[in-house]
Amino acid sequence: MNIENVLDALKKVLDPLTGVDLITAKKVHNIEINGNNVSFDLIVNDLEPMMKGELNMRAMEEIQKVFKEANVNVNMVTKESLSAAGPKTEQKEEYKTFVQPLIDLSGNPLPQVKNIIAVASGKGGVGKSTVTINLALGLKEMGYKVGILDGDMYGPSIPTMLNLVGQRPGLKKVYGIDKLLPIEAYGIHAMSIGFFVNPEQAVVLRGPKLDGVMKQFVKDVVWPDLDFMIIDLPPGTGDVQLSLVQLLSVTGVVMVTTPQQVALDDAVKAMNMFMMNNVEVPILGVVENMSWFSCEEAPEKKFYLFGKDGGKVLAEKGGTEVLAQIPIVESIREGGDSGKPAVLIEDSPVRQYYLDLAAAVDKQTQLRNEVAGPTKVVKITT
Ligand code: ADP
Repeated sequence: MNIENVLDALKKVLDPLTGVDLITAKKVHNIEINGNNVSFDLIVNDLEPMMKGELNMRAMEEIQKVFKEANVNVNMVTKESLSAAGPKTEQKEEYKTFVQPLIDLSGNPLPQVKNIIAVASGKGGVGKSTVTINLALGLKEMGYKVGILDGDMYGPSIPTMLNLVGQRPGLKKVYGIDKLLPIEAYGIHAMSIGFFVNPEQAVVLRGPKLDGVMKQFVKDVVWPDLDFMIIDLPPGTGDVQLSLVQLLSVTGVVMVTTPQQVALDDAVKAMNMFMMNNVEVPILGVVENMSWFSCEEAPEKKFYLFGKDGGKVLAEKGGTEVLAQIPIVESIREGGDSGKPAVLIEDSPVRQYYLDLAAAVDKQTQLRNEVAGPTKVVKITT
């Protein structure tokens, strides 16, 4: 029996809260093996006593499948007691200790997701969903594992843009409770209200209901291990934005705007919501969409239909930078309508814009993670 075998066995046991395995969910700490004895700490915050018992049994079962003789000792602990005690450092010769990276104490319910990027805008129709999809697929092309959470409850366009209209998410039973599975398209995992209702029906969702759907998309969906979860937010400032920052530790926000002044005022308001004192989600940068028009035959000729510099002004106000300027190109709209996003079209002249955007977002995310700890989940008391 060694640490690797025990890890493999515990990878077969699911965490009842996230539906992912105990190791990915970072619930197992301080594994120690001494002859036939194996012990480890298991974080069980928020679990019913029955569930704790079941989890104990499941862990023993999987380890004993591989080592019949194993004496398994599961120490049920809370996050707080574990972090107070810190990882065990004692390393006796006959002991082998496995210590997981320090758990995330910010209360993030998606420990299997490394970076959560929200894509926001002041107004509708500026191309936020188009940016979300092409950014997500660009990051996937860079080799990352990517998911999309469609938080645009009023106008969920992700199903159309990923050619998933009419599809319904699958279910997975976790300790007898049904959880939802995201739908996979082009190698990324997506969840949207549009998988359950038609866009016209989504419009009737209001405040508390929206909040509930957002919570379900975080807590009742079995999200796989992801490098990036990209969240397409509804335009403006509202309930979904607020419940997002109270639910998740958002790594950063990408703002999308068009260049003209009228779009800018709303974009500033939306951006300020994230920069508010008690929210403080970093703004990773600005995407200026529909920056100019040029026809594919003569791409060097640029027509600035909506004026210039909106993206730059917004970035300055947010103390951040312009990540990309993307022109108006017919194939971008066609790609969205037909369910094959522009970044996937090899010979499309716009593919490179999105690949560059993905690289810029990746760089900003890394920089942000180097200089700051995880974003705190916002606690709003009323
Ligand atoms: P939002 O999410 O901000 O409401 P969408 O991403 O749905 O906006 O885009 C609105 C419309 O504009 C869609 O038809 C989309 O295909 C189109 N569109 C977005 N960006 C571009 C672009 N750069 N060039 C051409 N059409 C675009």
